Amino acid sequence: MWLIRTILSLLVLGYSLGTAWANEGTVVFYGATVIDGTGAPPLENAALVVTDGRIRAIGRREDVSVEQYNEAIDLGGKTVIPGLINAHGHVGGTYGLQTDQYNRDNLLRQLALYARYGVTTVYSLGGDGPEGFALRNEQDHAGLDRARLYVAGSVVTGNTEAEIVRQVNDNADRGADFIKVRVDDNLGRTPKMPRELFDVLLAQAHSRRSPLAVHLFYLDDARYVLEAGADLIAHSIRDLPVDDGFIELIRDKQVCYVPTLTREVSTFVYENEPGFFSHPFFRQEVQQSTIDTLTEPERMARMANSSMAQGYKAGLEVAMENVGRLAAANVPIAMGTDSGPPARFQGFFEHMELSMMVEAGMNPMQAIQSATSVAADCMGNSMIGSLEPGNWADFVVLENNPLEAIDNTRSIDSVWIAGNRVPDN
Ligand SMILES: [Zn+2]
Repeated sequence: MWLIRTILSLLVLGYSLGTAWANEGTVVFYGATVIDGTGAPPLENAALVVTDGRIRAIGRREDVSVEQYNEAIDLGGKTVIPGLINAHGHVGGTYGLQTDQYNRDNLLRQLALYARYGVTTVYSLGGDGPEGFALRNEQDHAGLDRARLYVAGSVVTGNTEAEIVRQVNDNADRGADFIKVRVDDNLGRTPKMPRELFDVLLAQAHSRRSPLAVHLFYLDDARYVLEAGADLIAHSIRDLPVDDGFIELIRDKQVCYVPTLTREVSTFVYENEPGFFSHPFFRQEVQQSTIDTLTEPERMARMANSSMAQGYKAGLEVAMENVGRLAAANVPIAMGTDSGPPARFQGFFEHMELSMMVEAGMNPMQAIQSATSVAADCMGNSMIGSLEPGNWADFVVLENNPLEAIDNTRSIDSVWIAGNRVPDN
């Protein structure tokens, strides 16, 4: 039995030279039910072997042998899922309900917040400054214990071809993981980017080998950008039900769809005091002053009377229906929330998104895959998303099995990133 082999490697570790991360060497996590993110049936009584922050082996406990290990952690009775990936967030810009708060400390604070909620990776699709790029560049090591960050730089806007080319190049020069563009019209309130400029933007992004993520609202625009060659649909289609022709198109183009259902929720839900304001899982990370502001009667009345809010509320119903249809048609759906801007609560919203995806017709296994292996594939990241040998050991230990009820993703015991336990607040 590998468990009773007594090993002296802890002593060896004490004398090792160079950088010594807390998790250096091998740690064995054993006894949990593991949902590996691939859609495979859960592994009962599993052993997950982590060496220097990466998964070295995973399997049923009796099938995994380990020559040496530094520590063995008993997870009996618990369920392990891969760390959640948010395919569409925004990091660093907000503090409480204040915007323009972008700096390294705020980025780190938010990446720690996501991590405590089990969101171990976030793709920030716009609003990213040099500090965000720097954090992205310094995260591939075994000492990481905050959420991984990927960035799009600034959202590309502009009224001329030259301006658009310049902005795409700026982002690409800095090493943006995605280029982000908006082709909606804020429910008819702002002009849309002309399609000729969109075409220029897409061609420039692709000439720089950057994938293009598109913020959109209308089915017609989704068709257009897919035909043109866009790489990610970063929001739900919210004006019309998707039809068979669209489903065929998005499958044919092998493009992923990011519903951001909770983004819609945030546009109208504060017209009343939302039920989640009383949930400990929400409250544990939110300042009372934020709740006080959002529940000011005048503020709630403004939202209730806002045609924009009511427009997006209607859009959510269409969005929910479309998620159900696309999931039934096996279109790859990546979990994303657009969390980060004021009143879109990082960490909590990702769990609400999972619940809403299930409400929209996905089963819990599909929802989990959507936030793990499917999201990783969609974002072109082969190092995360499933608990398989070679990947970073990013995972969440849950008290209860989310396949039984998706809300069980909220029963977090601990979160691990590159094999490091994420610190409590
Ligand atoms: Zn966004």
